[in-house]
Amino acid sequence: MKSIQVNVPGGPENLQLVDIPTPRPGPRQALVRIVASGVNFIDIYFRTGLYKADLPIAIGSEGAGTVEAVGEGVTEVAPGDRVAYAMARGSYAEYAVVPAAQLVKIPAHVDFHSAAAAMLQGMTAHYLTHSTFPLKAGDTCLVHAAAGGAGGLTVQMAKNIGARVLGTVSTAEKAQIARQAGADEIILYTEQEFDVEARRLTGGRGVDVVYDSVGKTTFEKSLNSLRPRGTLALFGQSSGSVPAFDPAILNSKGSLFLTRPSLGHYLLTREELLWRAGEVLDAVDAGKLRLRIDHTYPLADAARAHRDLESRKTAGKLLLAIE
Ligand code: NDP
Repeated sequence: MKSIQVNVPGGPENLQLVDIPTPRPGPRQALVRIVASGVNFIDIYFRTGLYKADLPIAIGSEGAGTVEAVGEGVTEVAPGDRVAYAMARGSYAEYAVVPAAQLVKIPAHVDFHSAAAAMLQGMTAHYLTHSTFPLKAGDTCLVHAAAGGAGGLTVQMAKNIGARVLGTVSTAEKAQIARQAGADEIILYTEQEFDVEARRLTGGRGVDVVYDSVGKTTFEKSLNSLRPRGTLALFGQSSGSVPAFDPAILNSKGSLFLTRPSLGHYLLTREELLWRAGEVLDAVDAGKLRLRIDHTYPLADAARAHRDLESRKTAGKLLLAIE
């Protein structure tokens, strides 16, 4: 089967298309014939070596396809089932062996590409808005990169709950996209001081929560944007890692809460996965969560997909179409 691997961590050119034997599912695993794979920043982190894995590194953490075979003891799925998953590596390939407990069945009216686009960023938006800082109607949140993959879905989920959403974006075109996702106010953080704007737009109080996927360039001003005892959910680092800082800053800026969550820690049990994935896929099915697929690439063009995602020019989801 064809698969994308990394033998030496580094740039996009280190993503190699290789032909390797199709794997077999072991106990509690399923073999999935992949139709579409999501492209995510986590794939870049494994490619560059920021996140460690044994060589050669199988790339891709999100996919949708059909169960081809199951190993011993699998009860969750059966051959022929249409399934999707996130947070198991190796989805940039024609087939992937996935722990069966991580697979969810795709609702009948949701196609494979939509399912692959929804899982990782959709469940991220879900845990951020429902669990990390559970939003209530009337709360105000600030969502960075509001036209991005995770950002655009977070905006929509926050609006579905009834919160007010301030969104940051880098360009006028992305502002339009974030507005279409439902953001009430847009801040062009490349031109405006977003912390000053966030205070102005909340009558000086500050927002209840900041969902920050950008990291290095936004961290400090995200703290400045919060109300007393507000929460910074720092869930990504698309501009780079946040340097070490003195926790006393959280006190001086208003007894703030800071958390650095990961999707894996919000999918601790099969029940939790079925709840989150079920709500995300049902919302897609019902038209309450609109997926914006920015571009779909052939498997062999995975390097181009990575370059595009890193270059800040995409708005929404990038997919690899495998068949
Ligand atoms: P996005 O679609 O949001 O793409 C990244 C966006 O970040 C860009 O489009 C850009 O939007 C903004 N950005 C700001 N500064 C930079 C920069 N220097 N370089 C590149 N982009 C920049 O990507 P994802 O939604 O896939 O992921 C965003 C982040 O969230 C990643 O760090 C990812 O790892 C993290 N993440 C974390 C998860 C978790 O559970 N912790 C789960 C999912 C994602 P603009 O042009 O508007 O500034």
